[in-house]
Amino acid sequence: MNHKKLFIPGPTEVRPEILQAMATPQIGHRSKEFQNLYTTIYPKLQDFLYTKGQVFLFTSSSTGAMEASVRNTVAKRCLSCMCGAFSDRWHTMATSNGIEADPLQVEWGKAIKPEMIDEKLKTGKYDAITFVFNETSTGVMNPLYEVAEVMKKYPDVMFLVDAVSAMAGVKIEVDKLGIDVCLAGVQKAFAMPAGLTICTASEKALKKAATVKNRGYYFDFLTMLKYHEKNQTTTTPTIPHFFALNAQMDDIAKEGYDNRFERHKKMAKIVQDWAKEHFALFPEPGYESLTLTCVKNTRGISVADLNTELGKHWITISNGYGKLKEQTFRIAHMGDAQVSDIMGLLELINSILGL
Ligand SMILES: *Cc1c(COP(=O)(O)O)cnc(C)c1O
Repeated sequence: MNHKKLFIPGPTEVRPEILQAMATPQIGHRSKEFQNLYTTIYPKLQDFLYTKGQVFLFTSSSTGAMEASVRNTVAKRCLSCMCGAFSDRWHTMATSNGIEADPLQVEWGKAIKPEMIDEKLKTGKYDAITFVFNETSTGVMNPLYEVAEVMKKYPDVMFLVDAVSAMAGVKIEVDKLGIDVCLAGVQKAFAMPAGLTICTASEKALKKAATVKNRGYYFDFLTMLKYHEKNQTTTTPTIPHFFALNAQMDDIAKEGYDNRFERHKKMAKIVQDWAKEHFALFPEPGYESLTLTCVKNTRGISVADLNTELGKHWITISNGYGKLKEQTFRIAHMGDAQVSDIMGLLELINSILGL
């Protein structure tokens, strides 16, 4: 079946083997077979995320887990680190749930620096921060490892990390970094269809949840934990994703974690070099994403026309996000895309644009 190959920052291209796994006949979610599937997947996720802590599987897109993380762990006041559409939206999720939150805002294209966070946390006003590792709207990769160092000074402040477009493309050592909640929907670097989100929760986060009121029901960490103890989920989960995730985790292990992360670095370097040669990079230097490149449209090309032409070759890239729609375009290089796919894409763009 001919379809447009996706080089957009989510959903990403899914291999036929994974689509096939999604089509596995259903099993009961309270059955022994399901419990077996659950216990098979679980240690693979812990291993891949370098955590001995809890890993929840959310039947929702990433946004569900973002909302859940603030509902479950913020009792006092949240610091929302905002640098683009997704981090901005996390702030809205907090305030619209009645959670007190203050923005720590930088211009789109700029990164959140550890000292900015330190400055705010020194006040003692906050018991959580929301931090987007890879801001997909601007192509900025915020300095997670450096921020984690600062967070170690504030052990009582929950460190909530959206790793949506980074997890499975970039190494994230959840326990070593002291991340309390680390979440990602599987339609980005996991290269699976949307509908499932992986979300870690530290011991501290679970203890904190016990002190927080109005956690809701569907995504209450403590209810989820109770079902986890039976190797189940609170409600009927997206069972097709469980089969597919099990298959994908095996394929990721076969490739080798480090090989996977290296492949992402290689693809990023190729696209960044291409963008610097023919256009410019949108993110502030030194903070370019390893999973997608946000290209500054310095030639004033029509991104829509480029995509129409790419479409004739069954390929699509992404325009800029929201207010950056015309000023930038985005090429995703994550998931199961290979270096050769990326080279082919860039050659095609060169020939279309006469570069
Ligand atoms: C895609 C994305 C989201 C939203 O994900 P959904 O799965 O659509 O809810 C949130 N944050 C980041 C950084 C993203 O890239």
